[in-house]
Amino acid sequence: MVAKGDMLYAWAKDSEVQKKGECGGAVTALLKHALETKMVDGVVAITKGKDLYDAVPTVITNADDVIKSAGSLHCGTLLIPKLIKKYLNGAKDKKYAVTCKGCDAMAFYELAKRNQINLDNILMIGVNCGGSVSPVAARRMISEKFEVDPDTVHKEEIDKGQFIIEFEGGHKGIKIDELEEEGYGRRSNCQRCKMKVPRQADIAAGNWGVIGDKAGKATFLEVCSEKGANLIESAKSKGALETEAANPKGIEIRGKVENAMFKLGDSCRKRDFEGLGTGKDRLKLIMTESAKCVKCYACVENCPICYCIECSTKKPWYVAPGVLPTSFMFHLIRFAHVSDSCVNCGQCEELCPMEIPNALFMHSQQTEIEKMFGHVPGRDMSPPIHALAEEKAERARLEATGTDSIYINIFDEE
Ligand SMILES: Cc1cc2nc3c(=O)[nH]c(=O)nc-3n(C[C@H](O)[C@H](O)[C@H](O)COP(=O)(O)OP(=O)(O)OC[C@H]3O[C@@H](n4cnc5c(N)ncnc54)[C@H](O)[C@@H]3O)c2cc1C
Ligand code: SF4
Ligand code: SF4
Ligand code: SF4
Repeated sequence: MVAKGDMLYAWAKDSEVQKKGECGGAVTALLKHALETKMVDGVVAITKGKDLYDAVPTVITNADDVIKSAGSLHCGTLLIPKLIKKYLNGAKDKKYAVTCKGCDAMAFYELAKRNQINLDNILMIGVNCGGSVSPVAARRMISEKFEVDPDTVHKEEIDKGQFIIEFEGGHKGIKIDELEEEGYGRRSNCQRCKMKVPRQADIAAGNWGVIGDKAGKATFLEVCSEKGANLIESAKSKGALETEAANPKGIEIRGKVENAMFKLGDSCRKRDFEGLGTGKDRLKLIMTESAKCVKCYACVENCPICYCIECSTKKPWYVAPGVLPTSFMFHLIRFAHVSDSCVNCGQCEELCPMEIPNALFMHSQQTEIEKMFGHVPGRDMSPPIHALAEEKAERARLEATGTDSIYINIFDEE
């Protein structure tokens, strides 16, 4: 019997699914099986649109169409859960199996905490994620750094620290470190991301740790919940999936790679946050950058933490309508409302027409708030800091200052 905590090598029984899958096609086989056996009403996955730079979120209700979503698209920088809230009624009345990266899984939990999505109706098939590259940046990188016409590329992957492309007439790989030093490569929030194996999902799937004769042919599955165990067990018993116990050496390697990614994430955080400067310099930088805002509200619309019917940034007594440049209040409202729970998904930065580094500003605040309150966003259903004030913790915080008011002795640097 498959149980929570198991580590498996898995591959699709169907040879076409296995061939089209990124690794062993296990994710596609599981999604298809969930739909076929009516565990879910629909599958939400990513399909290739015009080309491999074009990742299209798709709702699939016919099991034969699930195969169209096989394969990983590293230019798929989108976030799925807010789409489920907006266009699928927050999965309140239908069940969906969804493929999700770490940031998607975190967003699911944050929306569920705010009662915007019914997690009981979501089967989360997580995929490990080393990072994603914005499509326009990827095209520029491929023509400038790889000196290849981006339209001739038919496959891209991130493997062993390299960005690899296959194109008409050959393949080429360049180290991600080298690309990122020159301003190419993964999105900046991805460089700082530390949600590499999404264990809050029902299953975490990836290629890390698949060694020996199964290398490249199987998917590494970590079973993270009972729901995940049941799905795998059912898919095995109906002949949709094959599994074997993961190689212990492979498990060890996977752990080492994950740790190396944490270290890389930490060093990118240090570099980016220090780059913001300190004190008044930091304030000046944030104010100068955010003064470019044209109030398109894309950051609000796409942030998984923003769930209000009408954002306070639209209230005329906070932010004067029809006035540009907008007041700093617009951004202060977002900092105040979101920074305790920001999951560093990068949507606010990527979708900003004025290229304001919104995610960097918010993430720099979130990491300090996490150190202060010990609240880690997106990992479980623990309520947001301001939704649960506990008397004991409040008293302890006041006592820790050694004073009778909240004024001094709060920060280490004082
Ligand atoms: C951006 C990205 C980065 C990744 N980086 C790593 C890594 O560093 N290490 C590692 O071990 N594994 C990584 N993976 C996971 C790995 O590529 C495979 O997805 C996983 O091993 C499952 O393989 P499979 O053959 O079972 O999947 P398949 O059967 O091929 O199914 C892949 C699933 O991923 C979905 N998908 C494709 N693109 C996206 C996207 N952009 N966002 C959300 N879902 C998507 C598809 O809809 C499909 O459901 C990454 C995946 C993505 C999408
Ligand atoms: S934020 Fe993290 S999980 Fe999301 S795409 Fe970037 S690296 Fe992957
Ligand atoms: S503030 Fe930006 S990075 Fe943070 S959760 Fe919202 S959209 Fe994502
Ligand atoms: S996305 Fe950019 S321009 Fe649009 S409201 Fe947000 S910060 Fe302003």
